[in-house]
Order: sequence, then C-alpha cells, then structure tokens
Amino acid sequence: MELFSLEGKTALITGASRGIGRACAIALAQAGANICLVLRPPSDSTQDITSADLKDGEDPYSSVIPTSALLSAISSTSTGPAKGIHVSVVYADISDTTSPADSGSGVKSVFPRALKVVPAEQIDILVNCAGIQRRAPSVEFPESFWDDVLNTNLKSPFLLAQAAGKHMLPRQSGKIINFCSLLTFQGGLTVPAYAASKGGLGQLTKALSNEWSSQGVQVNGIAPGYIATDMNEALLNNPARLQQLNDRIPAQRWGTPGDFAGPILFLASQASNYVCGEVLVVDGGWMGR
Ligand code: NAD
Repeated sequence: MELFSLEGKTALITGASRGIGRACAIALAQAGANICLVLRPPSDSTQDITSADLKDGEDPYSSVIPTSALLSAISSTSTGPAKGIHVSVVYADISDTTSPADSGSGVKSVFPRALKVVPAEQIDILVNCAGIQRRAPSVEFPESFWDDVLNTNLKSPFLLAQAAGKHMLPRQSGKIINFCSLLTFQGGLTVPAYAASKGGLGQLTKALSNEWSSQGVQVNGIAPGYIATDMNEALLNNPARLQQLNDRIPAQRWGTPGDFAGPILFLASQASNYVCGEVLVVDGGWMGR
C-alpha cells in the first residue's frame, strides 16, 4: 500500500466543493495528503481562509455540500485520513482568467495564494477538476457561454498547470491530473464549447506531458462517463432518459463520485510513475460499447 501513500504530499484541488472534486479531495486526504481546496468565493469575502477559520464557512455556490461538511467528512472518515493532515482553502473564481496574480480572486491568484497557506510552501499534486457545461444549439450558442466554458474548462487548467510546472519542475517532481470527459473523444450534441474545451484539455494533457515527463512532472487526465452529480441534474430527473442510459452502460449503472477515489489515488501517487500523458476513461464501459 506504500505505493499509494501520499503522506507528506500536498494536493491543490479545484472544484472541491461537491461532486467528483469533493470525492477526490477526501480520497487524497485519506491517503495522507495535505489538501488545499479551491472553492468559489463567497460574495462578501475573497480572503484566504484556513481550515481553522472555516468551521461555519460555506461555499455559496454549492447546493449540497457546505465547506464545513466537507471538512468534517474528511476528518471523520473511518479509514483516515492520517492524523494531522493540513486542510486549507483558497477562494477563487477560476472563470476569471484575466485578473492579475497579485490582486482579486481570479485563477492567476490561486497558486501564489495557495503557496502561502500550505505546509512548507510546497504543492506536489494539482487536480484540475472544476468544470461547467452550457447547452444550446450551435447556431444559437451565445458567445458568453463559449467564453465561460473555455475559460473555466481549458484556459484556467492551463494557467494552473503552468504555475504548477514553474513550481514543480525545479524540484523534478509533481503530478498534474486534468478532468477530461467522454467529449475529449466524442463531439456530443448541442454542447460545442464543452466538447471543444474537453477535447482541448486532452490534447493539453499530452502536450504538457511531452515537455515535462522527462523532468519528473507527470501530467495525466481522467475522463468520467455518466456520473451522478449536480452537473447532470436534468438527466437524473428524467426517468426515461436515465433508464435509456443505464441500459447502454455495460456496468448497468451511473458512476458515483466515489468511483474516482481509486483512479485519483493511482494517478496522484507513485503507483503511476510511468504513466505519462494518458487519459484514463472511467465510464462503466460506455466507450467500449
Ligand atoms: P459539479 O457541477 O458537481 O462540480 C463542479 C465544481 O466546479 C463545483 O465545485 C463548482 O463550484 C466548481 N466550479 C465551477 N465553476 C467554477 C468557477 N468559476 N470557479 C471555481 N470553481 C468552479 O461537476 P462534477 O460532475 O463533479 O464534475 C467534475 C469534473 O468532471 C468537471 O470538470 C466535469 O466537466 C467533469 N466531468 C463530469 C462528468 C459527469 O458526468 N458528472 C462527466 C464527464 C466529465
């Protein structure tokens, strides 16, 4: 099990307030990693807040999991985490790709602010999990949708990976994991920006890996299939469509956020040291059918 231990490592996770990102944060913490959660800012505050300050804090954009519940879930899991892990939070709107690093709460401020609150000013693992989807027929697709989706799903992961690369390459060590999609490989219907962003993120994963894997920094992706999270609320509330999809998935069920605990630990740990530029499909067999 030492292969999967993350003791002494620190992970920065976007999209950690709910869904897959939350499950990944908990899994990383259970494996012993310190975790720094990137959450969307409360409207009245953009300050860095550490776990000690967060007992009553909530991510106002999260419909299901208040930050306090996330933190208590992490600290009360029966199998871990290793005692004494450090949990910190940086509030940021990662769709804001223009605000400078030293002001505001845009994506460029995330890495420098995170380094100030994590132990030993060191980040070993970056998980780019935050993502959004906007749906409309392509002929009517609003330009604002395009910009929001591309900024959140592609430009922001690049800017964070770039900051991580500058920090990790001199130490010849680091793991970057990008949350892709089945639409990294397929076009989908009426989600042109999402498909373009996730296709681009898959290629970005390979491009960064090609440059950095010889220097000890591995860049990989995970492509979820149909996962029961808020992102799929409309589908989950449509019983006929749900049944249709279940029938099409070889595993005969939707995935859950917990299905990503294993894949994230694999790609974040030394268990995957020779896996470079790969996008791991976690979809109950959908792609193979
Ligand atoms: P979700 O909607 O449940 O969670 C998305 C997270 O991203 C939330 O924590 C949200 O606060 C955060 N986020 C969104 N915009 C943000 C912003 N501007 N600034 C900061 N944080 C922001 O989604 P999920 O289902 O958990 O998906 C996680 C990742 O997996 C996404 O990248 C998604 O595209 C990808 N994915 C999900 C599925 C699925 O079926 N759920 C399928 C394929 C890929």
